[in-house]
Amino acid sequence: MEGPIGQKQQQQEFALVSVSELSSSSSASPSEPAVARFCSDSGVAELRFYKEPESIAAKNVNLRISQLFKLGPVRSVCISEGSDASKETSYTSGVTVEFRNEEEGRAFHFAFEQWKNEVIQGNQLPNGTVLDARSKFDDKIEPSSAKMYFHYYGQLLHQQNMLQDYVRTGTYYAAVLENRSDFTGRVVVDVGAGSGILSLFAVQAGAKHVYAVEASEMAEYARKLIAGNPSLGQRITVVKGKVEEVELPEKADILISEPMGTLLVNERMLESYVIARDRFLTPNGKMFPTIGRMHMAPFSDEYLFIEIANKALFWQQRNYYGVDLKPLHGSAFQGYFSQPVVDAFDPRLLVAPPIFHVIDFMKIKEEELYEIDIPLRFISSVGARVHGLACWFDVLFDGSTVQRWLTTAPGAPITHWYQLRCVLSQPIYVMAGQEITGRLHMTAHNAQSYTIYLTLSAKMWGPGAEQGGIIQASSCKLDLKEPYYRMSQPQAYPLAQDQQPHQLISTQDIQVSSQDLEERELMQQPSPNSGAQLNSMMENI
Ligand code: SAH
Repeated sequence: MEGPIGQKQQQQEFALVSVSELSSSSSASPSEPAVARFCSDSGVAELRFYKEPESIAAKNVNLRISQLFKLGPVRSVCISEGSDASKETSYTSGVTVEFRNEEEGRAFHFAFEQWKNEVIQGNQLPNGTVLDARSKFDDKIEPSSAKMYFHYYGQLLHQQNMLQDYVRTGTYYAAVLENRSDFTGRVVVDVGAGSGILSLFAVQAGAKHVYAVEASEMAEYARKLIAGNPSLGQRITVVKGKVEEVELPEKADILISEPMGTLLVNERMLESYVIARDRFLTPNGKMFPTIGRMHMAPFSDEYLFIEIANKALFWQQRNYYGVDLKPLHGSAFQGYFSQPVVDAFDPRLLVAPPIFHVIDFMKIKEEELYEIDIPLRFISSVGARVHGLACWFDVLFDGSTVQRWLTTAPGAPITHWYQLRCVLSQPIYVMAGQEITGRLHMTAHNAQSYTIYLTLSAKMWGPGAEQGGIIQASSCKLDLKEPYYRMSQPQAYPLAQDQQPHQLISTQDIQVSSQDLEERELMQQPSPNSGAQLNSMMENI
């Protein structure tokens, strides 16, 4: 009798062997075959029990104030808090239900959580009741942002965009299939399953069962895709809801997810990944991906700088249909420089070897992602005008058989994440071998993104610098939520005959944390060739 679980359903029914009310006074009511029906036609999500053959509602349970507990494989008890405001004393009531088999019991538990979640998600119920049960997600994310976010992911075209990023999807496929031993016979949770593609990969790698958790309407499409691949799909259960809110009937041996946004942390889905770990993963479980790294290096790109500065030129006009636009030039200029630039750039624009900051998905606490503070220290390989900080990320699938990296580095095959650059409105000048210091400080905001504060400094050079030690410092504040998608293909910077491809990009760049600056000082050497490279690059463009 149990149908697919879905929030759009008007009602959902389950046949029961028996239902009996827990009672404090009289002996328990006799057990009879019954039907349990989930519905929200009164405006409140309810579970109604009907005893056969009368079909009269024997008991109504308000899901908002109820919880379901397993008493055994085919028996559960549904406990409801007393909620009648007119009564001074209210008592807890309970209903014991017996299922026909374990499978139906499991499906009932799912349905219970699904219907309850519909309430918890703060949905406006038909009679206008807004219920106030809030989850960890609701506590920190603005509802309008969440609505737009899940609307976006509910559309197939955006899932297709990710699926067509073959670097991304192919790396996931390889990482999963090459590590069969991590999946074979295991319970998997796919955190933010989208189209369900990673769940299908996990089953291909031998997973015993996959719970594909997806909050957007894409869950319905995932069901369709999975149903259309029956040999794989029979081992997948799509659970529609947020990982912060849904309940699953068992713990997972491994989590699989693709929670990375621009600069790794945009969208704040890493926090959901970490919450899913704490809620669903067994203590020795695995996470795919396992760690993420944010990489950073100063760059020099005169063309980009001029392009951004020029955008504000419009507001320099003194006679725009008789109106002086100049009063807004400063604000427009600031506005353009507060947008991080997303595009693929040539790695030879980097002026120093990159450093990286590790985020260990297995260990990090969710709250630690609210504020990310990275001290910066680079040794410039070239003399250049530094226009800002270039950033990208990679993630590691730490499989038992194969360790695989998915990288979004400049110079590597382009992904739909591209790279990100924070551009300073005031460039700084450096000599080869000169130290560049600074700070990248990021604070999470309730629109599922971050405010970025960047400062870069270098000692002044030129006449008198030896005596003075005057610092040039430049700062900017950017909103990661509002990037400028520049998406140009990397420009052709032909190599001169004596040039080697740039040495700066490698997975061997230097890890940074607040403690290890001294250690890093020992490891970091200016690259001997890159001065010439940058100069010749400037000539070539
Ligand atoms: N796993 C898919 C989709 C990745 S995109 C793939 O690799 O192709 C991330 C997906 O996670 C989106 O579909 C989004 O709706 C979902 N998502 C984001 N936050 C979520 C949350 N807190 N709970 C459940 N799903 C979430």
